[in-house]
Amino acid sequence: MDVRRLFTDQGDPLPRHCDLFGLSLSWELDGPVLPELLRNQRIPIWAVERKDNDPIVFGGGPVLTANPEPLAPFFDAVLLGDGELLLPAFIDALQGCRNEPRARRLQTLAKVPGVYVPSLYAPRYDADGSLLAVEPLNSEIPALVEKQTWRGNTLSHSTVVTPEAAWPDIHMVEVVRSCPELCRFCLASYLTLPFRTPSLDDGLIPAVEKGLTATRRLGLLGASVTQHPQFSDLLHWLDQDRFDDTRISVSSVRAATVTPELGRILAKRGSRSLTIAIESGSERIREVVNKKLTTEAIHAAARHAKQGGLSGLKLYGMVGLPTESDDDVEATGELLLALKKNTSGLRFTLGVSTFVPKAQTPFQWQGVRPEAEKRLKRLAKTLKPKGIEFRPESYGWSVIQALLSRSDRRLAPVIAAVGEGRESMGGWKKTYRAALNGELKPIPGPDLPAPPPWATVIHEEWDQNCTLPWIHLRGPLTPAKLREHHDQALNQTSSPG
Ligand code: SF4
Repeated sequence: MDVRRLFTDQGDPLPRHCDLFGLSLSWELDGPVLPELLRNQRIPIWAVERKDNDPIVFGGGPVLTANPEPLAPFFDAVLLGDGELLLPAFIDALQGCRNEPRARRLQTLAKVPGVYVPSLYAPRYDADGSLLAVEPLNSEIPALVEKQTWRGNTLSHSTVVTPEAAWPDIHMVEVVRSCPELCRFCLASYLTLPFRTPSLDDGLIPAVEKGLTATRRLGLLGASVTQHPQFSDLLHWLDQDRFDDTRISVSSVRAATVTPELGRILAKRGSRSLTIAIESGSERIREVVNKKLTTEAIHAAARHAKQGGLSGLKLYGMVGLPTESDDDVEATGELLLALKKNTSGLRFTLGVSTFVPKAQTPFQWQGVRPEAEKRLKRLAKTLKPKGIEFRPESYGWSVIQALLSRSDRRLAPVIAAVGEGRESMGGWKKTYRAALNGELKPIPGPDLPAPPPWATVIHEEWDQNCTLPWIHLRGPLTPAKLREHHDQALNQTSSPG
């Protein structure tokens, strides 16, 4: 089998004949390039228009596993869950029916656990355009497609190490998958449960050794790497003299797991700073989101990073979390100022994004709060003059992320039409308005009603009994469990303001 990797920014052509065209989406804002990518490869953009000789277009990754619906009409198949399990099952099934007509192939694929074939499911709406159900077109395929979970002893690592990559010459090793903390907004935790940790001797060490034959730069990846039960053993193994020329970076770590020893080994291996996610300076908000992190633990993480010899600490937070008030945002500013005062000499950076509701998390029913934009500005005003580097994520991008994470198939014509306009919120709003006015080219096939108003998708809190666009797809937890976590979060405390 001939397998090629294509890069979206290189314009690489496809081979003359291609059976399968696949891509993985990790971030909502990657999705809208798909129609352009398909056009460039001369593949019909709508799945229902593809003929027997066109490739089967498939996708996977967190964005598509959480809510594939806005992009569903572009895909022949979406793989829900872990690639280790799904890819072999998907490819084996396809090999078995390779020479059959496309419709038969799709019907076969739809029976593979975790493989969702959107064209074989139809949404049903009421007279007002509210979604009532998404149902299979025939009784041979499942009404509910369940995400598949890999439970093997190894997780993924880089297979190509090159200076041309986004992270040049780094061998990435996945240390953990998922996160046991269950912060109520967190897709990285809820969508990928259960928390999985490969063993050190049979999983992680061989993966690291393999990569270090190609490069001396190692990246330890995962939602919460320091929570691997053998993380300190891994760290001590990497402390050996033979790794003296190796540079090690770790992704964000839990504040409560930062020790002077962690700081020392990372500093010795070329890291200058550590990243911790605090979400908010307000204890109350951290309780609402189930962060289980005290203010003292954040101060201790800063002290330990400094004691270990690191020169900087990056913190991540959010604004616009459910029940957040101006006072909570003020608490974030105050915490940063106190950290700077108490741990002088350590450089602090605060990255802040706007809360975006993600499908398959307890906060999926919540909306983006417009106050977030003003709160980002307020934090900038508090922190910048005091020498704290402040990196806000654009509020506009957060709104577009919400549009992509909460919509159903009626967004697909907008995605197909937005073109270069996808670079700005104005471009999306204008194209969305055209969809509301019935001015866009529809998806071929049965007519769909106009999409819901912009504010309903982006900002409104949805009724928990509404039909979610991803109702026919099942992540690790049932909707009832997510509802329970949602209610626990919001009922334990109410906004003081
Ligand atoms: S600790 Fe981080 S990765 Fe884990 S659930 Fe919370 S936000 Fe997600």
